[in-house]
Amino acid sequence: MILYIIEIAVFLVVAYLGIMVIINSFDGNKPEVTDFPCSSCGSCCKRAGVVAGLNINLDAENPLYFPYSCDETGRCEKLTDDNKCSVYDNRPLVCNVKELCLFLEQDPKEFYKFNASVCNTMMDEDNVPLEFRINVKQF
Ligand code: SF4
Ligand code: SF4
Repeated sequence: MILYIIEIAVFLVVAYLGIMVIINSFDGNKPEVTDFPCSSCGSCCKRAGVVAGLNINLDAENPLYFPYSCDETGRCEKLTDDNKCSVYDNRPLVCNVKELCLFLEQDPKEFYKFNASVCNTMMDEDNVPLEFRINVKQF
């Protein structure tokens, strides 16, 4: 009798997992994560020293490791004079809001809203022209 119950339980678990795999493979309701609307102000890259400082808790193989040096002000060595990232297409995960959002399995809407408000705060501190501000209400 006990074996019979165990067999039914195992069957139900396997059936449940199988159904979940099928449902997930057809799930068209998952929102597509769009790119973060970065305005290329450069304010975060001028503070990359903060991110680099977190490396102390990470080994170089960790996906969140930041591999570049920063000057004494915190400016990333890969930031060009016109505030562009010279390694943009291969930038670290921690510099890519969309990929970081996916990696951390965050809700894109909330993650983007939070990041945008941090961006705007940094821009305020740097007196960046207002046209670079990200509209937080779009999320
Ligand atoms: S602070 Fe925000 S808007 Fe400015 S470069 Fe960084 S991610 Fe882009
Ligand atoms: S690697 Fe590129 S995106 Fe990342 S902090 Fe440096 S300049 Fe900015």
